[in-house]
Amino acid sequence: MKINTTNLAKNFIKENISNGDIVIDATMGQGNDTLFLRQLVGENGFVYAFDIQKEAIEATKYRLIENNVYNSVSLILDGHQNIDKYIGNDVISCVVFNFGYLPKGNHNIATKPDTSIIAIKKCLQLLKIKGVISLCVYQGGDTGFEEKDAILDFVKNLDYNKYTVIVSDFFNRPNYPPIHIKIIKEM
Ligand code: SAH
Repeated sequence: MKINTTNLAKNFIKENISNGDIVIDATMGQGNDTLFLRQLVGENGFVYAFDIQKEAIEATKYRLIENNVYNSVSLILDGHQNIDKYIGNDVISCVVFNFGYLPKGNHNIATKPDTSIIAIKKCLQLLKIKGVISLCVYQGGDTGFEEKDAILDFVKNLDYNKYTVIVSDFFNRPNYPPIHIKIIKEM
């Protein structure tokens, strides 16, 4: 199978979290990343997962139960722009964003540039030193370019002493494939 944005994200996440860590899935969707994170942090760790759609919460809950890991997880029906209300003083190792809309859901219910940037900002504050954020960002088609442009503009301007930002683009692939962004908190 050819490498894609999802593989890039998964490898990055796996390299940067350990059993017992507290992590966040900022865009639950079907719960793929919530399950992946929960399996990596184990029951001594904790996963906070967010989505604004009830369907996402239900699908994710089912997926976790099916895999016998419906504990050490909190599934929160709220926008990721409110993330700080739920986390308290926990020190976060990793935050995962998978933007856009649910492929099998309503394409009108998608992440939006303004709230996405607020959420990323808040997550940068919540991260421990050497904590990471993984962002899968979509473009083209129904999605357009507004969110991708806003996110790239935001990360481009992060202080390079405090954060390392790496952007991966499948440069010679057609049809505007999604890009992957890694952010590492350095200090
Ligand atoms: N585009 C990806 C899937 C992304 S799912 C793919 O093709 O695989 C994105 C999820 O983010 C959706 O379930 C949507 O409901 C959710 N979402 C939209 N706005 C949100 C917000 N402000 N906070 C949290 N989740 C949000």
